[in-house]
Amino acid sequence: MSVIVLVEHTEGVIKKKSLEAVQYASEIAKKMNTTAAAIVAGKATDEEMKNLGQYGAQKVLHVQDDRLNELHARAFTRILVTAAKKESSQVIITLHDVNGSSIAPRVAIQLNAALITGALSYPDLEKGFVVKKSVFSGKAFAFVQAASDKKVITLMPNSFPLIKNEGTATIEKLEVAFEEKDFGVKVKEVNKITGEIPLSDAELVVSGGRGMKGPENWGLIENLAHELGAATACSRPVADAHWRPHHEHVGQTGTTIRPNLYIAAGISGAIQHLAGVSGSKTIVVINKDPEAPFFKAANYGVVGDVTEILPQLTAAVKKF
Ligand code: FAD
Repeated sequence: MSVIVLVEHTEGVIKKKSLEAVQYASEIAKKMNTTAAAIVAGKATDEEMKNLGQYGAQKVLHVQDDRLNELHARAFTRILVTAAKKESSQVIITLHDVNGSSIAPRVAIQLNAALITGALSYPDLEKGFVVKKSVFSGKAFAFVQAASDKKVITLMPNSFPLIKNEGTATIEKLEVAFEEKDFGVKVKEVNKITGEIPLSDAELVVSGGRGMKGPENWGLIENLAHELGAATACSRPVADAHWRPHHEHVGQTGTTIRPNLYIAAGISGAIQHLAGVSGSKTIVVINKDPEAPFFKAANYGVVGDVTEILPQLTAAVKKF
């Protein structure tokens, strides 16, 4: 009986949200009086893997195969199923992101396990493994029970603060009998977006909506983001109108973020937008309409024109 967790990395650099998933797995393991093992696939340095011990992993099972530097959902499913059988795992954890969402349901089917997606809490073992998750685009919470012996959980990123401890994990090789069909999708080209802070990992985000009026005004968002060291984001209509690339769109149909600070400029605060940002610790809204619904979700609000307020805010940040 153990808990295993899939770790995501980019060319060996483990993502912050994966450290959170490791911490989540190890806390569940503690509650269950068992151990947590992190599963790392592809190129990763020994140091990065050992450091997973700082977030509670006792050991790392490493699958070394260069084909695993890219996501192959079937191959990663086989890895998790192999690891779960080897470790007699009762709980299998992935992130609730594009990768985790394509792998977790496959693993759950193969292991005949209950699947809980988008978990926001640790399971309440006394109540029979009940987990809190958000439903209806973040407007409500549901408490769901995994009633089967084995459980697969996808963790909503940025649900828990990271706490780093002393500790080091041991590294073991995991042999997996892949089949050719596990690598059926070939990645032909990867276009990297350089020079930007990845949105899902960002602690600070400056975001613009249709109230920015057009892409020619985006310098106002970028200047403030630059001064703060923040990532930039946008509402869906902005991406649909090609003012900004689609990977910046946050909300129900875009990326879910939980930064420490979310600054929304010229965004009305529709329910579908809030679904992706309402977990932010502090929300600042700039809108010229005092009745804009976003003000109800805001910690701080500025009623004013973005073309006047954003430069003033940027100048104020520059002084620090
Ligand atoms: P608007 O609603 O047009 O609001 C613009 C705001 O800017 C207004 O509040 C206005 O007062 C203010 N403003 C105008 N000029 C200025 C100025 N000069 N200075 C200051 N303020 C100004 N939306 C998302 O964002 N993300 C999603 O994931 C998403 N998914 C969706 C899924 C579905 C199935 C559907 C039906 C819709 C979805 N939407 C999503 C769209 C959503 O319903 C809203 O239409 C959208 O969020 C509105 O974007 P906006 O706030 O930028 O634009």
